Amino acid sequence: MRILSGIQPSGKLHIGNYFGAMVPMLDLQHKGEPYYFIADYHSLTSVSEPDVLRANVRDAALDFLACGLDPEKAVFFRQSDVPEVNELAWILSTVCPMGLLERCHSYKDKLAKGFSPNHALFAYPVLMAADILLYDSDLVPVGKDQKQHLEVTRDLAGKINEKFGDDILKMPEPFIQESTAVVPGLDGQKMSKSYNNTLPLFGGKKALRKLVMRIPTDSTPVEDPKPTEGSIVLDLYKLFATEADYNQMIADYKAGGFGYGDFKQRLFDAYWDHFEEARARREELEQNPQLVEDVLQAGATKARAKARIVLDRVRGAVGLA
Ligand code: ATP
Ligand code: MG
Repeated sequence: MRILSGIQPSGKLHIGNYFGAMVPMLDLQHKGEPYYFIADYHSLTSVSEPDVLRANVRDAALDFLACGLDPEKAVFFRQSDVPEVNELAWILSTVCPMGLLERCHSYKDKLAKGFSPNHALFAYPVLMAADILLYDSDLVPVGKDQKQHLEVTRDLAGKINEKFGDDILKMPEPFIQESTAVVPGLDGQKMSKSYNNTLPLFGGKKALRKLVMRIPTDSTPVEDPKPTEGSIVLDLYKLFATEADYNQMIADYKAGGFGYGDFKQRLFDAYWDHFEEARARREELEQNPQLVEDVLQAGATKARAKARIVLDRVRGAVGLA
């Protein structure tokens, strides 16, 4: 079973990426043949400074390695090291109706957030389909925001197979864990790198604590019971806490007598402790700057060999070879 997933180096990786995508990716790396990549072509839609993009790629790779990605198990590569993906994206776009892309939420959300509409933002799901289909992927672990893009991917694979012959492209399945499908950001919307509402995986203790303390809460007085429904602090705490600690926090919300500052401190402690081991590993990895590049290069060589086989099959089928 081939497993494929990617993350954009559009900013610091955050706990939404972690629980929504990285945890399932890391779990699945022992259960199949994982192809995991850093989606730098995609990030060109939101990062316009070359040095920032390069630094983000390196940081994302370090984050993955620190969190337990095993480069002996997973083919771990940079998207742009396999330029074949663009050729497949072009072929897919020839069977992609405009209406299919016009319906995509993520495009509409980005425009609502003030991104100016351009072709890459609009065509993002086609490049994503190529990312997946180029490796004959079976399973794609992602957060819920990507569900619709997976449907587009399946749609496009179906159209190619229908038009040019069965079994040219493999039909992938999404893998979405309901409990962590959408991690809320500090403002209650989906946590996103480009929305400036994230809790990053790594950072200085003071700065991260400040972010937690910034989470908006209502004005219930300390002594009164607090509403549990829709509490961002509680929802985030659930991701890190044991069941017993989580139940205790709910009980304390309902009892009254505890302020939000107290609840936020518990959230911060659980969040900080969760990444303690990974933080130490990351510091160690940072001592060896060549390591990340070597891992990504070795991954790219393997990914490219696989990509070539699939692309040649598609080229032949559509009449390009
Ligand atoms: P951007 O704002 O640039 O789109 P992002 O934070 O949405 O960045 P992506 O790189 O687009 O992150 O997504 C990487 C993976 O993380 C995808 O599988 C996506 O579904 C998942 N993911 C992103 N945000 C969340 C979230 N808040 N909750 C759960 N999963 C998420
Ligand atoms: Mg996103």
